[in-house]
Amino acid sequence: MTVEEAKRVITELRERILQYQREYYLEGRPSVSDREYDRLFDQLVELENRYPELKTPDSPTHRVGSDLDSDFPEVRHSVPILSLDKAYTPEEVYDWMVKSSQAVGQALSFVLEEKIDGISIVLYYRDGYLSQAVTRGNGYVGNDVTPNVRTIREVPLRVDFEDPFFVRGEIYLPTADFNTLNAQMDPPYANPRNLAGGSLRRKKSRETAAIPLRIFVYDGFFEPSPSEHRIVSQRLQELGFPVNPRNVFISSSEAVLPYIRELVDRFTRDRKELPYQIDGLVFKVNEIGVREALGYTEHHPRWAIAYKFEAPYGASRVKRIEIQVGRTGRITPVARIEPVEVGGATIENVTLHNQDYIDALELSEGDLVAVSRRGDVIPAVEKVLEKNEAAPLYRIPDTCPSCGSKLETRGAHSFCPNAESCPAQLKGRLQFFAGKDGLDIEYLGEETIEFLWNEGFVRRIQDLYHIPWERLDQYQGFGERKIELLQRGIEESKKAPFERLLPALGIPELGPKVSELLIDAGYDSFDKLFNLADRKDYDALLRIPGIGPKTAERLIEELSRPDLRELVRELSSLGFANEYRRTEEHLPQVFEGQTWCVTGSFRHFKPRDRAMEEVKKRGGRVVSSVTGAVTHLLAGEAPGSKLDKAKALGVRIVNEEEFLQMLGPSFQ
Ligand code: NAD
Repeated sequence: MTVEEAKRVITELRERILQYQREYYLEGRPSVSDREYDRLFDQLVELENRYPELKTPDSPTHRVGSDLDSDFPEVRHSVPILSLDKAYTPEEVYDWMVKSSQAVGQALSFVLEEKIDGISIVLYYRDGYLSQAVTRGNGYVGNDVTPNVRTIREVPLRVDFEDPFFVRGEIYLPTADFNTLNAQMDPPYANPRNLAGGSLRRKKSRETAAIPLRIFVYDGFFEPSPSEHRIVSQRLQELGFPVNPRNVFISSSEAVLPYIRELVDRFTRDRKELPYQIDGLVFKVNEIGVREALGYTEHHPRWAIAYKFEAPYGASRVKRIEIQVGRTGRITPVARIEPVEVGGATIENVTLHNQDYIDALELSEGDLVAVSRRGDVIPAVEKVLEKNEAAPLYRIPDTCPSCGSKLETRGAHSFCPNAESCPAQLKGRLQFFAGKDGLDIEYLGEETIEFLWNEGFVRRIQDLYHIPWERLDQYQGFGERKIELLQRGIEESKKAPFERLLPALGIPELGPKVSELLIDAGYDSFDKLFNLADRKDYDALLRIPGIGPKTAERLIEELSRPDLRELVRELSSLGFANEYRRTEEHLPQVFEGQTWCVTGSFRHFKPRDRAMEEVKKRGGRVVSSVTGAVTHLLAGEAPGSKLDKAKALGVRIVNEEEFLQMLGPSFQ
C-alpha cells in the first residue's frame, strides 16, 4: 500500500469509527456489531503503527469514544476515565501478564472480573455522601447525572467513610427486566445496555426510577490507596457497594497459561447463565503500587486488559487455493481453510477476489491467516499470521481450469473468454437461471442441476425443457413424486414475466438493475434489444442514466452472441414471454417512506425479489442489506444473518402472512 492509499484508508476508517461511536454512545442505536467495530478499530491501529507519520492526536485510537450529551452539565474527572486494551485469546492475555511482570521486574498477581455490558459511571463521595455521579464522557469531562443515579437503589447515598474518594462502576439492566420492559417499547431497544443508557439520560429522574437499574462497582480511588486491588474491592463491599462476587484473584504462581485458559473457558461457558450481560472479562494487575510504573496510553491503562468474547478474527490455515469460474467467466480464487468460527458462523471458504488482493496479503498455500466477517457477513482473509515459507506466493494460473482457454484480464479480474462452451460457465448459468436470483424454479436446486449435468441431461438453459423424464426414474432418489414436482416446477417457470426472464439469463452486465433501466428506457423486448445490438447503438445506451460506457460496450457484445440468440429463440418457441407487459394499476402507496429488506424464502413470492417488487409498486424503497436505514425486514423460511442484524437494530420484522395482509386485496 502506498502512503497515499494508507492515508485515504485511514481517513475513511476514522470517519466510520467516529460515526459508529456517535451511534453507539450518544444515540444508543449502533448500526454495526461490536465485533465489526473492533475489527475496524484494530485495522486503524495497525495502519497507524505501520505508518506512524499518519498518526494524529484527534484519531479515535488516541481518545476514548465520547458519550457527552449537551442536555446535562459537564464535570471534569479527577483522573482520566479510559477505555481498555483488548485481547481475543487466552494466549494474548497471558502474554500481557508476562510482559507486565517483566516491565516492573517482579512477579505480579492479577484479578479477573466480568466485563459488565452496561454504562460506565464514576461516583464521587464527600463527607460520607454521594456528591456527584458522572458519566465517562470523553474520558476527561463527563455529564453530571446525579439526580438520576440517586434513584438506583443499589447505589449507597451515604457511606461510613468521611474522606473524599470515588468509585468506578457499571450501571446495567438485568436481562429479564430488559426483556419485560422492552416488549412495551416502540421502537424496542437493541440490548439492555442501550435501554440502561437511555434511562440514565432521562430529563425527569422519576422516569429513571421506573427502570430497575443495578450497579456493580469495580474500582475505588482512596487516598492513601490500599496496596492491592482485591483489598480495594473488599473495602468497597464493606462500605455497602455491590461488588461482583464472581471476581477471581489470580496469585503470581497461578498466572500460567493453562489456568488462564481454564478461567476463560469457564467464564465463557457460564456467560449464558448469568442474569446480566457481559461482553468480556477484565484482567487487572492486583498490585496498585506498580500501576503508575506500567502507565497509560491516551486510550487505555497498561495495567489492565479486556478479553473480548466476540473476536473480530479467527485464526485458520489455508489448506489450498482453488479457482472458481463464474457464469460470466470471471475467475475467483477461493481459499479453502480449516473450519474456524467467527461471530457464530463456521467459515471454510473465503474468496480472495483477484491477484491484487492476494499480492497485498502476500499469501501462500499453508499460511496461518486471520479470518474475519466483514460487515459481520462476508468472510475475509485480513492478514497472514504465520507464513508457510515452503510455498511460493500464490499466483492465479494463466488458463481456465474448466476449459483450458487462455485467461484474459479485464480491470482487476481475470476472465475465461470461452462463454459459449466453457463447462463451468454453462453450469453456472444453469444454476443461476434456476436459482433464487433467477427464476427460482421449484425443486431444481444446485444439487439436482449438478446431477442432471453430470449425467449429461443438460448443458444449456434450453435443455431443461427437454429432459427425458422417462429415463430419470432409473436413478436412485428420483421417485415418481420427485419427477412430477420437478416437471411441474420447470413447466411453471415458463410463465416468468419478461422482466424476470431477462436478468435470469445470466448475461454479463445485465442484472436486475440494468434490466430495469433498459425496460424503463423502452428496450422492453428481446427484438428491441437485439436490434439495438445489431445497430451497435452505443449512444442509445449511453443516453440511459445509470449505464456507462463500459456497460454499454459489454451489453452490445453480449447481446450479439449467437448462442444467446439461439437460446431466446428456443425459449420463445417454448412459450416464454419475449416482451414486457405493462400493468397500468395505481396501487395504494402503503409503503411510502419505508425501507425494506428481505431474507429467507416464501411460499407466495418465488423468487423472493417478487415480494420486493410489490413493496416498490406501493411506494417503498428496497435495499439489499440491513443497515440503520432499514425500517422493515420481510423474513421468510430459513432466514439468514440479516434477521439477527435486524433484531439487533430494532428493525420491524414482518412474516409472510403479515406481509400479505399489508398488501391487501390489491395483491392477487
Ligand atoms: P471498553 O471495551 O474499552 O471497556 C472499558 C469499559 O468497560 C469501561 O469504561 C467500563 O465501563 C467497562 N467495564 C465493565 N466492567 C468492567 C470491569 N470489571 N472493569 C473495568 N471496566 C469495566 O469500552 P469502551 O471504550 O466504552 O468501548 C469500546 C467498545 O465498545 C468497543 O470495543 C466495542 O465493543 C464497543 N463499541 C461498539 C460500537 C458499535 O458501533 N457497535 C461503537 C463504539 C464502541
